[in-house]
Amino acid sequence: MAEGQIILIIEDETPIRRFLKPALESHGFKVVEAVTAEEGLSLAASHQPAIILLDLGLPDMDGLEVLRRLREWTTIPIIVLTAREKEKDKIEGLDAGADDYLTKPFDIGELLARIRVALRHLQRVKQGDKDPLFETKDFEVNLASRTVKARGNEVHLTPHEYDLLVLLVRHAGKVVTQKQILKEIWGPGADDQTQYLRLYIHQLRQKLEPNPNRPHYFLTEPGVGYRLKYE
Ligand code: CA
Repeated sequence: MAEGQIILIIEDETPIRRFLKPALESHGFKVVEAVTAEEGLSLAASHQPAIILLDLGLPDMDGLEVLRRLREWTTIPIIVLTAREKEKDKIEGLDAGADDYLTKPFDIGELLARIRVALRHLQRVKQGDKDPLFETKDFEVNLASRTVKARGNEVHLTPHEYDLLVLLVRHAGKVVTQKQILKEIWGPGADDQTQYLRLYIHQLRQKLEPNPNRPHYFLTEPGVGYRLKYE
């Protein structure tokens, strides 16, 4: 990770800030902290952080509202921290423009992995995403030639399977909500067709996972969506 990048933490709970600040600083980040939404919005504008960690339960404003206000002017990656187990909040956060979420309590390794993914995505967007090849240890996707290989052998995918795979590859490492997937692949109005999704994810696992019954790459985020694991 790049040295000296600024991470803004908007979080009212002191123990969480006390846990996050030294951990992130020991990984080379500069940490700026806000304890209220108001302060957070102002620091986001003045410090232009590389990443924002946003608690959804803030004293002075709903975290989702903070998210919406940030998204009016910035594409800075935002990772939502939520104590709420409710899937609805996670989905609303993602739909409101969060890049990812973590449910408290989380460990620092998990957070750093999400930060790495978010920074890499930002980098790719800045560079215009010119690399057509997506590779894992077990399969590769060539976006230019539209070919997929698993363990060296070409794999035939149906058009919907391929579109779903490409969507997950574009968001590799990040969660994609069911609604986002259905809308992108099956168009508006397909919102409730989650059985399609389960079927196509099942197919991708069968064709690409080394052990389809114990998915390593195509992970289900229960009640929220799917994540293509990528390190
Ligand atoms: Ca809180």
